[in-house]
This record gives sequence, structure tokens and C-alpha cells, in this order.
Amino acid sequence: MDCNIIKDLIPLYIDGCCSEESGEAVKNHIENCPDCRNTYDLMLGEIQPEKVAAPLPSPVKIRERTASVLQSVLMFILFGLITFGVAKEAAVPLGWGNGFWAFSLVVPSTGFMLSLANWYFVRQYKSRRIFSDFSSMITFLLCATTFVWTLYHYEIGFTGLFNLIRNAANTGFINSLRATGGLFGIAPCAALTVLFSVLSKTLSDIFAKMLGKD
Ligand SMILES: [Zn+2]
Repeated sequence: MDCNIIKDLIPLYIDGCCSEESGEAVKNHIENCPDCRNTYDLMLGEIQPEKVAAPLPSPVKIRERTASVLQSVLMFILFGLITFGVAKEAAVPLGWGNGFWAFSLVVPSTGFMLSLANWYFVRQYKSRRIFSDFSSMITFLLCATTFVWTLYHYEIGFTGLFNLIRNAANTGFINSLRATGGLFGIAPCAALTVLFSVLSKTLSDIFAKMLGKD
């Protein structure tokens, strides 16, 4: 077969788009014709890398998008918990029980949500380990700060807290908590603070890993 016809058929042969007979003809020809064999090798080198490289999206971009989704979903959930807690708290009549929802749910959720601001600075940290340790610590400190703020907002203060601990020695912890009303919420508050601090470490580690941080 004529070399020019073979050279016209080579691209179709590489793509697997020609008929079985044409394919067989090209195959037989390039095995015996060094010139067409050379054309075939050149085209194979040019066509195939393009075919493989073009449709693949950058893997880094995919991870960045997933990381943003993780951060947004977490913010959304925490904001939902805060809203739920505030609504519950507002429904409690004045008197006994005021502050329960504020302490138990709003305080730790607010601390965790505020600590997510630290995630924007992930690239400033030397390593993933340091970042996740700091995230956890920041979550704990913000929960503690919000707790103290709430303690004064409900006019309990540290005096009230110390009285609670002192009374606990006399009347038993549960009775003492009951007498103090909303402060009853400090037990779930402490539990959620610990849980959120642990979650903060785990999730910020996953977040940093998605962004390719070592
Ligand atoms: Zn030829």
C-alpha cells in the first residue's frame, strides 16, 4: 500500500477508529517500512499524552474544595446548635432553670464555632500536628472564655460557682446543682467542651491533610 495512504490512516489506527482490514494493513506496513514506522512512533508520542492529560482535573483543587465544604458544614451545624440553644433558653420562664441551655449547649457550640476562624490560618503553621494541637487548645480556651462570660451574664459569677462547690460538700452535688438552677447546665457544658476539643483536633487534622499539609 502507498505510504501516503498509510500515513493518513495512522491517526485513525492509533485512536482505534479504522476498520479491521485497514488496521491490519497499517500494522503490516509499519512493521516493514521504517519511514512510516517513524511517523507512527511520532504520532503515538504526540497524541497519547494529550489524550491522557487533558480531561484530568487538578487533584489539589478537588481537596481544597472538600476542605472548604468540611469547614462550611461544621460552621452550619454549630450555628444550628447555637440557634437551637438560644431558642430553648428563651422559652424558659424567669427563675429556676435560667441559663441551663445557655451553659449546656450555647457555650460550647459558640467556643467551637469561633475557634474555626483559626482554620483560615492553617498555612501559617509549621506542621499539621502543631496546627491540630493549637486548634484543640483554642477551642478549649474559647469554650472556657464563653463559659466565664455566661457565668457573669447570669449574675452568678465565680462567687456563685464557689458557693456551688462548697455547698456540694454539705448537701451533695446534685442537690447543690438543683438549688443553683441553670448552673445545672455546667455538667453537659464540661462534657461537650471536652468532646468539641477532641473533635477540633481530629477534624482540623483532616482539614490540613486535605490541603496537603505535612
Ligand atoms: Zn511506508
